[in-house]
Amino acid sequence: MILRARVVLPVTRPPIDDGVVFISGNRIRTVCRWRELTVPADEKVVELGDTVLLPGLVNAHCHLDYTDLAGEIPPTPLFTDWIKSITTAKSGKIYADFAQSWLQGAQMLLRTGTTTVADVEVVPELLPDVWLATPLRVFSFLEMTGVKSRRDPRLVLDDAARKIQSLPVSRGGAGLSPHAPYSTMPKLLSLSAALAREKGWRLVTHVAESDQEFEMFMQGRGEMFDWLRRNERDMSDCGLGSPVRHLERHGYLADNLLAVHVNYLAPGDAMLLERHGVSVAHCPRSHAFFQHRRFPRNELAGAGVNLCLGTDSLASVTKMRGQLLELNLFAEMQSFASAHPDAPPEAIVRMATVNGARALGMQGTLGELGANALADLITVPYNGDSGGAFEATVHHKGDVAASMIDGEWAKPPAT
Ligand SMILES: [Zn+2]
Repeated sequence: MILRARVVLPVTRPPIDDGVVFISGNRIRTVCRWRELTVPADEKVVELGDTVLLPGLVNAHCHLDYTDLAGEIPPTPLFTDWIKSITTAKSGKIYADFAQSWLQGAQMLLRTGTTTVADVEVVPELLPDVWLATPLRVFSFLEMTGVKSRRDPRLVLDDAARKIQSLPVSRGGAGLSPHAPYSTMPKLLSLSAALAREKGWRLVTHVAESDQEFEMFMQGRGEMFDWLRRNERDMSDCGLGSPVRHLERHGYLADNLLAVHVNYLAPGDAMLLERHGVSVAHCPRSHAFFQHRRFPRNELAGAGVNLCLGTDSLASVTKMRGQLLELNLFAEMQSFASAHPDAPPEAIVRMATVNGARALGMQGTLGELGANALADLITVPYNGDSGGAFEATVHHKGDVAASMIDGEWAKPPAT
């Protein structure tokens, strides 16, 4: 199949006016100008017209099973209060609620151009059924905590590992998600890192999300410190340095780690993340919801850290008047662009595509249009030339015009 569009945006190469993507099965064979292509006699050409054709978006952080919590939990001045609220809200839900929520979230992502998502799963029993109910390419990370239950980290990890090994081969994959340094014991981090290394699995962990978490590890005090101590967490790992240093001490920093948020850094943290090849997922609308300190983009990007974009869950997105509250990576790109007006549109599109693919170990395979990459792509309406294509992509509103995953139309182009 040959797809022809007004502009093709391979992302890893300059944009192409009147470009084509030649697909064979579920892979891309060639990306070039229309006039450079010799069309084989029996090959079908799909005219996509006035559109930008680009790789499907890679959402580097999501919690699909919280979609139905949209707008239910107001932002609170203290991050720990919000954690308590969401824990209460979750405890009232049953399996069917989580399943419906997950699937509804997947629909939202598909409509708005995400083709690959790194999702944190709090209800592992949903897998693999929900995978089979969506064309989305899902990388599921099984959440682990264990502080409140005081379960032995070995048992917590055994459960997750057993689940991962029971899962069938899919378009995506599965990995481990120790929730955060504050909500897990250091032993869970070191055991997870060792097992992930052995099995070739990837890790997702929330890191340095709030000022309270930063204070807890840096100074061994504050609201989060007091709250967790009351819950009988062993606090002897606090007061020793930043959350990033904490992870380093427990052998957790490596190139298979996708660290989520990373809002609060001590001097040297950005270099440390870069040196270990850690990727960072930033969630602009969730960031704005909690009114965190400005995201340290310049520090992280300056150190050479791979930065990606995620939606987080709808439980931490503020509803704007007249706006539909939905999981939408374009809305995240726009939120990021307005918070960081110095960021070039091309860099923002890279964060939502190729950088996310790299964070999942899928560089060259997802998040770009190139020979041998998987045929995951989307189109958005556009009638300009290649010069304005990145900018127009960042500011696209609404659903995508078409979406293909693994060589099959998830949303066919209008004919
Ligand atoms: Zn999260």
